Amino acid sequence: MKRTGILFFPAFDWSLGDFHPEREERLLYTQEQLFEEGVLDLPQIKQFSPCVASIHQVLRAQALLPNPRVHADTLDAHLIAAGSAILLGEARVRGDIANGFVLARPPGHHSGGTVWGNRGFCTINNEAVLVNHLRARLGVKKIAIIDTDVHHGDGTQDIFYHDPNVLFISLHQDGRTLYPGTGFVNEKGGPNAWEQTLNIPLPPGTGDEGYHYVLENWVLPRLQAFAPDLIINSAGQDNHFTDPLASMNLTAGGYGRITELLQPDLAVLEGGYSIEGALPYVNLAILLALAGEDYHHVREPQKLDRPVLSLATIKPYIEALKKQHQTIKPSFTIRKKAFFPTGNWIYSPHSVYYDTEGFQENRHDYVRQCNHCAGTVYIESDRSPHKSILVRIPFQACPECEQAGYDLWDHLLHHSDDCISGLLQNQLQDKFSVWHRKEGLTLF
Ligand SMILES: [Zn+2]
Ligand SMILES: [Zn+2]
Repeated sequence: MKRTGILFFPAFDWSLGDFHPEREERLLYTQEQLFEEGVLDLPQIKQFSPCVASIHQVLRAQALLPNPRVHADTLDAHLIAAGSAILLGEARVRGDIANGFVLARPPGHHSGGTVWGNRGFCTINNEAVLVNHLRARLGVKKIAIIDTDVHHGDGTQDIFYHDPNVLFISLHQDGRTLYPGTGFVNEKGGPNAWEQTLNIPLPPGTGDEGYHYVLENWVLPRLQAFAPDLIINSAGQDNHFTDPLASMNLTAGGYGRITELLQPDLAVLEGGYSIEGALPYVNLAILLALAGEDYHHVREPQKLDRPVLSLATIKPYIEALKKQHQTIKPSFTIRKKAFFPTGNWIYSPHSVYYDTEGFQENRHDYVRQCNHCAGTVYIESDRSPHKSILVRIPFQACPECEQAGYDLWDHLLHHSDDCISGLLQNQLQDKFSVWHRKEGLTLF
């Protein structure tokens, strides 16, 4: 029998405020609905208990700045959400289950490669921590992440932007009309991972038909061409027509069909803030689709009374977007600092706004151009008045890139003039060193 794993972690003691959409009871109604429908009694459903991720596991994907200790008091729920994703992912890779659904909160996809705090309700990127764990410990090589949350998965994109072995696809409401304001077709990946990021911004009002059209005619062919060992769905339920934060018009049944089309090995819950009107039904439809059961009878109580873009309208829009995407060619800025090791270094600056606490991070990213590996990454991250450095030696780094990483780290340790801290993220050797001006070196 093909088993479907399910793991609940509602985090009843964590919220961003009593009236915040990301609050304690977000998964309560889902839990009740699944019980009521008797889904948990289906013979193929296997329940798992939550599990805690370690800081070591987080540092494989993300730099907690200025150092991990600063975040210690606020991470409990986040570490359990990430640990739960790891647990179910391991079960999938080991063959204990055919697929699974991680119904945990807090969400994670707005949390990027450098983390100074919470943004878009996210501090730890659950899928990214999972993906890098499976690569480091279970030898999985090629992974695709399909983000179907209504918001652009900017954090996940940031973490894997230079990684040729991770295909990241995000479908979301157009960033000109919704947080976080990114995710356009020209964001296609770094020089060593060109075309391994695919963003499909959709117009507000896109409904089931339009969404399924995009999946069948753009996402699935791209996915098949990549031929991943594992498919992970960042399953945000905020495309639903009752969601208070966004303006898409998907139904619970529409979500069931998305799951059926994508055939993910693992679905990991992201957003979704229509707590009573959508989440119980969308999550039920997804779980039934994963379990190979009929989901067509799942109906949300409210009727869809918002105008939905017809397929006749959306089809030419998507085809034009696809053409625009194809015309965008790689264009990178070569720039290096005086102390950089040999090679071409590609420079890209950008800023990240942390909406939860209201501050800005300024990033200066450099990646070593390489035909043999993902390339060493050097990031200067400024959160005024502090500056931290991330040096990443990627999985399967070639000898030159590995050495470049050690040289950069060595330079930081001896010339740390204006920095408060740094992280050597050595994915190749699975070792993570944190240097902090006051606390010295710590190994994770
Ligand atoms: Zn969302
Ligand atoms: Zn290399």
